[in-house]
Amino acid sequence: MTLSADQLAPSPAPPGGLSPAEVPQLVMIGFDDNPAVEPMQWILDHALNLRNPAGGADAATFDGSPVRFAFYSNGTYLDDSPELRTVHYQAWLAGHEMTNHTHHHYHGGEFTLEQWVEEMELCRLSLVACGIPNEAQRGFRTPFLEYNDATFAAARQLGFLYDTSIEEGYQPDQDGTNFLWPYTLDHGSPGNQATTQPGDLKRVQNHPGLWEIPLHVFLVPPDDRAAEYGIEPGLADRMAAYIAANGGWEWSAETRKISGLDWNVMEAAGRDGPEFLAILKHTLDLRLASNRAPLMVGAHTALFPADEPDRREALEAFIAYALEHPEVRIVTPIQLIKWLRDPVALGR
Ligand SMILES: [Zn+2]
Repeated sequence: MTLSADQLAPSPAPPGGLSPAEVPQLVMIGFDDNPAVEPMQWILDHALNLRNPAGGADAATFDGSPVRFAFYSNGTYLDDSPELRTVHYQAWLAGHEMTNHTHHHYHGGEFTLEQWVEEMELCRLSLVACGIPNEAQRGFRTPFLEYNDATFAAARQLGFLYDTSIEEGYQPDQDGTNFLWPYTLDHGSPGNQATTQPGDLKRVQNHPGLWEIPLHVFLVPPDDRAAEYGIEPGLADRMAAYIAANGGWEWSAETRKISGLDWNVMEAAGRDGPEFLAILKHTLDLRLASNRAPLMVGAHTALFPADEPDRREALEAFIAYALEHPEVRIVTPIQLIKWLRDPVALGR
C-alpha cells in the first residue's frame, strides 16, 4: 500500500457518489494520553461485548462487528508502567487501534521536523515495547491539538496513514449538518485555513496521500431542544459563563460550537455527565439528519476515573444511544479509511 494511492478532496458529500441515506453513520471514539490503567480498563471492559447493528451481515459496512476504539497514547507513561504496557497490548489483541500521541506530550506548535520525528519515533518504540507492531500503528494526534506544517511532513516521513489533529467546523457556513467528510491533505486543510492566517506557523501545506480525520466541533443543543435531551435550557450561556469565570478563552454562545474533545466540555466549560451526553447526542443527531459525515469523538481515559461515575454513565449512554440507530457503526479510524477507499452502501 502506498500513501499516494489515496486521494479524496474535502467535501460535505459522501464519497463514491453515494447519497447520505445510503451510507453508514460512522462514529469513532479516540482516547488520548492514557496514563492510567484503571480508567482504560473500564472502557475496554465496557467494549468487550458491544456489537454494531446487525444490518445485512455485510462485513464491508461493519454490520454486527465488534465495537472498537482508538487510543492515542504517550510513550512516557508506557515506559514507566509494566501494567499499562500489558493493558495496551491486551487492547490491541482485542482489536482496538493503539497508536501515537508523541512521547512526552510537549507543546509542539513550534517544533521542527526533527523534533516531531523524534517525538513520534520514541512513542512508536514505546508502543512496540508493549507488543504492538510498527505496522499496526497507523494514526497520529498532536498533544493539545497543536501542530504546524512540520507535523504532517513528519507523519508522512514515518509512514503514518492518517492524522487526526485538525479541527473542522468552525467555518461560519457550517452548522453540524454540512461538515466535511475526511479528506487527504493533497491541497492543505480547509479547517486549518479557516482558523489561521496565510504564513501562520500552523498553516498546513500540501501532504498528498496523508489522510486527515478531522476533529469536528461539537454542537451544543439550542434551548428549544433542551427538553428532548433532558437538560435545562440555557446550556450555552452556562458554558460561556463558566469559561469566562475560569479564565478561559473567548467562547461564543452564539455559534454553540466547542472543540470536539471531552476536556473542553467537561473541564474547560465545567459541564457534568448529563450535559456532556446531551452535547454528544445532539452532535450525532445533526449528522444523522443530514450528510452523515463521520464523527470523531475526542476523549481522554483519565477524565473518566472511577470517582466520576456520572461521566462514565454519560459516555456509556452515548455509545448505547448511537448503537440504537440501525445506520450507525462505531469503528476505528483504520476501518473508516478502509471504507472511504471502497465506499459501500448499507444493505447493498
Ligand atoms: Zn493529550
